[in-house]
Amino acid sequence: MHHASRIEISESALKNNLRFIRKSIGAQTKFSSVIKGNAYGHGISTYLPLAERLGVNHFSVFSADEAWYAFEAKKESTELMIMGMVEDEAIDWAIANDISLYIFDFERTEAVLTAAKKRNKKARLHLEIETGLHRTGFDQKHLRKIARFIDANKDYLELEGVCTHYAGGESIGNYHRIMSQIKTYHERLDELKKIGVAPKFRHTACSAPSLRYPETIMDMVRIGILQYGFWPSRETYIDYSVNHNVKSDPLKRVISWKSTIMSLKDVSVGQYVSYGTSFQASRDMCIATIPVGYCHGFSRSLSNLGRVLVGGRRASVIGLVNMNMIIIDVTNFKDVKKGDEVVLVGKQKSNSISLSSFSDLSNKLNYESLVRLPKDIPRVVVS
Ligand SMILES: *Cc1c(COP(=O)(O)O)cnc(C)c1O
Repeated sequence: MHHASRIEISESALKNNLRFIRKSIGAQTKFSSVIKGNAYGHGISTYLPLAERLGVNHFSVFSADEAWYAFEAKKESTELMIMGMVEDEAIDWAIANDISLYIFDFERTEAVLTAAKKRNKKARLHLEIETGLHRTGFDQKHLRKIARFIDANKDYLELEGVCTHYAGGESIGNYHRIMSQIKTYHERLDELKKIGVAPKFRHTACSAPSLRYPETIMDMVRIGILQYGFWPSRETYIDYSVNHNVKSDPLKRVISWKSTIMSLKDVSVGQYVSYGTSFQASRDMCIATIPVGYCHGFSRSLSNLGRVLVGGRRASVIGLVNMNMIIIDVTNFKDVKKGDEVVLVGKQKSNSISLSSFSDLSNKLNYESLVRLPKDIPRVVVS
């Protein structure tokens, strides 16, 4: 099939980021690569095998449907963990394929036990503890009961991990809340220990806490955004670079998004370009059409604002972003021709378009802009 654009996944960038993460979490800690949201837009089926080749052997997803895509792409020995939604119908599949599951309520745990008995196979569980995020997780008052329940059924339920999630480690505004969560987590662990429960993996840290609160790095970490080469927030980057005295970004973006020039055309001074009257040529111009529009995730709010790279130079989006096309000004671009590469996000020669500038020139999180990249744009690995 032919596509109007493609997403490139850089192997060397990923290698760099994995090395960075390994350095910060230490040699002993297990690294779980979080690939929810279609691997943050990078494409599970492309990203997972590449990460595997670079030594990653544990992946975390949000839901059973994501786990299915990951399962299809992975090697047999690679482990999977579902951190969120599993419909009752998917529990049996997860157990049959040794996929670990978060549990955060009794109903889920009982359903898992029933399925495990039916299949006569142990289910691998990660007990999620409420420490202050107030999303999912067992409260203190239910902790003993669930721990005893798992212990009483240990032929079918294996307590692989005890985990929690922090309420926004990327912002210093949440400092007290995070510190209190760390304390609560350890208190709960002690309570579990007193009744003889000791999990193989204690894990709490995602990207930002792993950098800002190193004590949250325990037996395992669940890292998403950092491995793709993005900071959880600008603040996290500033904090890191000040504390580690780094002068340039140690992370490298893994993703770029590219297309080509579809057609070139001259317009005369005074003519309007594209729908309506939002852009009028103030001189004789040469314009180029790119076959990417808002149906591909190139937001309409970038009309008359967006920038792309052609021949290593920035070109302006002129007029409204259409459903399938954008139009750019290439008047002063010598030698530009049909078929030339256009970079929507990423580098070309010494210039680059960052995801955050592309993200509506707005405050949208990198996380959100990434996961909005449509699934059907082909992902290709480049060196
Ligand atoms: C998304 C998520 C992560 C990874 O978060 P990053 O900030 O991308 O590292 C880890 N744990 C849980 C439970 C998550 O939902």
